[in-house]
Amino acid sequence: MKTNQTMLAESVPSLDQVRENGSDASAKIAFYLPTGNEVDLCIHAYRSRIPLMLKGPTGCGKTRFMEHMARRIGRELITVSCNEDTSATDLLGRHLIRGGDTVWTDGPVTRAVRTGAILYLDEIAEARADAIVVIHSLTDHRREIFLDRTGESIQASDDFMVVISYNPGYQRSLRELKPSTRQRFASITFGYPNEREEIRIVAHEAEIDAATAKKLVGIATKIRQLTELSLLESVSTRLLIAAGKLIASGIPPRAACIAAIAEPLDDEAETIAAIRQLIEISI
Ligand code: ADP
Repeated sequence: MKTNQTMLAESVPSLDQVRENGSDASAKIAFYLPTGNEVDLCIHAYRSRIPLMLKGPTGCGKTRFMEHMARRIGRELITVSCNEDTSATDLLGRHLIRGGDTVWTDGPVTRAVRTGAILYLDEIAEARADAIVVIHSLTDHRREIFLDRTGESIQASDDFMVVISYNPGYQRSLRELKPSTRQRFASITFGYPNEREEIRIVAHEAEIDAATAKKLVGIATKIRQLTELSLLESVSTRLLIAAGKLIASGIPPRAACIAAIAEPLDDEAETIAAIRQLIEISI
């Protein structure tokens, strides 16, 4: 009889296999440029069945990383974007009325547990407390969920993994994850990529030349250094890509940067004016 460990070793690809999947030039795998040891950490966490927490500001590649890794590992990725209304019922499932009958319908967490998917709970700290508690029994030795509405206990398959994302700067003291939750996860911190990496990412994603991408990244670097603007959050790679896409589709570069970088960052006229000025001298 096979032990859990040997079954896991057979069903989970090796680190070398995963590396090979990543070098697969086929368009099936979302482009992801590693900025540290996150690929190795993720695959080792997967093989060791350790839940993962991705920390970092919005738009810096956390979701793209998981899309990429799920393909490399070879499991379905089930993503839940959490918000302040996300409840345990939303995650686990509910009874729905269909054609006069009441039918149980699995929520995304239950579906991921049953099928051995990678469950990505984006912005988990936004969710209601009862939703956060759902993941507790999945992130310790039990690896199970209990559906109190149906009385069913479901053991997660060996292939199942939980990943959460968390933006500590943004949630600040408002919605911090409790130690009892966060200490269940190994954690990877995502930040803005360095200039060379970000130029490659922006050029690739926006389909613009490296010289234009370099200018956009230069603007971002300057804005990120301007701490006196007291922005809630600074320019993300996502915003640079949006500016690049507008340029690629024919909007003049300055107008594209004002629309995609300056305006989304803040509502204060003075702050926007300072960023506009910076854009005007840079592109
Ligand atoms: P987050 O989940 O952290 O809010 P995303 O993963 O949605 O951010 O990143 C926003 C966009 O930035 C992605 O759609 C992708 O185009 C790009 N991106 C950011 N970092 C990377 C990276 N390291 N490699 C490839 N693309 C990236």
